Amino acid sequence: MQFNPRYSSLNAKLYHQQQPKVLLGAKAGHFNVNLANHLHWSEQDQHDWVEICSGQKTFAEFEPLAMVYAGHQFGQWAGQLGDGRGLLIAQILDKNHQTIDLHLKGAGLTPYSRMGDGRAVLRSVIREYLAGHALNSLGIPSSDAVGFTTSTQGVQREKLEPGAMMLRTSDCHIRLGHFEWINQYQPDLLPEFTKKCIEWYYPECLDAEQPILAFATQVIQRTAVMISHWQLVGFAHGVMNTDNLNITGSTLDFGPYGFLERFRPNWINNHSDHHGRYTYQQQPSIGHWNLWMWLNNLVPLCPINIDKEVWKEKLAQCLEHFEPTFLEHYQHGLKQKMGLPTFHKESFECAMAFLHVLKTEQLDYTQSFIRLQNKQYEALKDDCLDRRQFESFLTQYLQLREHHDVEASDKIMQSVNPHYILRNHMAQKAIELAEKNDFSEVERLFNLLTTPFTKQPDLETIADLGPLPDDQPEIMVSCSS
Ligand code: AMP
Ligand code: MG
Repeated sequence: MQFNPRYSSLNAKLYHQQQPKVLLGAKAGHFNVNLANHLHWSEQDQHDWVEICSGQKTFAEFEPLAMVYAGHQFGQWAGQLGDGRGLLIAQILDKNHQTIDLHLKGAGLTPYSRMGDGRAVLRSVIREYLAGHALNSLGIPSSDAVGFTTSTQGVQREKLEPGAMMLRTSDCHIRLGHFEWINQYQPDLLPEFTKKCIEWYYPECLDAEQPILAFATQVIQRTAVMISHWQLVGFAHGVMNTDNLNITGSTLDFGPYGFLERFRPNWINNHSDHHGRYTYQQQPSIGHWNLWMWLNNLVPLCPINIDKEVWKEKLAQCLEHFEPTFLEHYQHGLKQKMGLPTFHKESFECAMAFLHVLKTEQLDYTQSFIRLQNKQYEALKDDCLDRRQFESFLTQYLQLREHHDVEASDKIMQSVNPHYILRNHMAQKAIELAEKNDFSEVERLFNLLTTPFTKQPDLETIADLGPLPDDQPEIMVSCSS
């Protein structure tokens, strides 16, 4: 590994250095060898992956640390939060020379644990491990993980569950909530912290006339692009608090997430989300709200030669980039999924008509796009109660498809419509077996989700292709992970 231990160059009030607290009887769960290679892990480190992914082996080049941050949770100011059960154990360079954080989740109590126990359970670790891998394989910016371990140590939740640890990777663990903490508790640190964020993550902004405004615009645009990816693939993050969004627009901290199965945009997948604040359909507006809250923290950085009110206005203008950026990427992606030409205004309306069919008929989001791609129009129609609605969509659709190169757009469809997503019931089955020490289903899903756009008849099962039967309810995921 090539180390770049830069976080600890920040003011020491921003973190607490400590070693991981190991779990009893740590043992192998799963190891992502391709990612380890991409991160230049030596043969020795790969050999020792269980020790590294269980906190038994740390590195002389980096003293592990817990970060402090704050946040708005479910729309309310939550005060100081921080890494309550995870430690940054290294910052290393990948094959592209990009700095990647290694964050060990479940590593024990820290000064920021509040009421928690500092631990993670196997169930939630497997869910995050597989979903991070799925998102990355779908081409969506996201954290990933080198591996996870389980243990013989029980951790109390609603019931006693196996404790586990996961070595998460992300290009950035600095959250919107870092700025909120600094402003609230240590405002003097804000200029230097912001300068470092720009230097590390957006160096091109240093050349702008107003680097802070350029930085804000970039953060806003990257977040909008990330959310457009989520919407296109049907991913609901589940807990979009300001402490769970980072400043590089890569998906982070998605505990009670869900991939939509039947197209129900208002489906609540997070058991604790009583008002449906974080449903799929709310994500763009919640992203916008979070960024608005975040921008307030940049107000004190007003340059001396600019009037404060003018500065506030300029910051607000940065946020005006959110909606057009989101729409541009979402519309473009949707037209690709439909195999429709991008230059037709009617294309987007036709895509919306298709989504309307999926919503009113409660069809499976992923499977329906695959059927459209495979021209299985009869199969789609057979699943509809209102066949006239479907036929009217299909007539419009086929007309639009007539006007351009169908072969080329078929190829595009195949490159953007996944055959496989991580359905809740798939993760659930892998978890149940893993809790009995059988990781074969984790391995199978990991491999299946590695190439989601390619049909893998030898690896797939019928259950991977659709939602559970109607008489089995969708699973709600609890936050107590
Ligand atoms: P999350 O919703 O998982 O992003 O967590 C919100 C906050 O609670 C973060 O500051 C976490 O570090 C903290 N937290 C969550 N679970 C635990 C736990 N079991 N022990 C200590 N802190 C936790
Ligand atoms: Mg979090």
